[in-house]
Amino acid sequence: MPTQEISWLRRGACRSSDPDLFFPLAPTPAQEARAKAVCAGCQVLRECRSYALSAGEAEGIWGGLTPEERRRGRLTTSSPAAT
Ligand code: SF4
Repeated sequence: MPTQEISWLRRGACRSSDPDLFFPLAPTPAQEARAKAVCAGCQVLRECRSYALSAGEAEGIWGGLTPEERRRGRLTTSSPAAT
């Protein structure tokens, strides 16, 4: 991924957070809630979420979403419309 495509990451609220909060070895609901609270106040949440969904990031909290929430989001947006 070219650096300029994720240059917004330099403005992310998580820059000053412990990386383990966003990429834990063993995620817990409490850890996910703390990471999401950081994302909620992030000025680049929209860019981050869009990037993670389009890139298929499989690990960690991105744009306030867990891997499972991103996976469900991709399935929902890529599913054919009901007829
Ligand atoms: S939305 Fe969350 S993961 Fe993305 S840059 Fe902001 S704080 Fe970091």
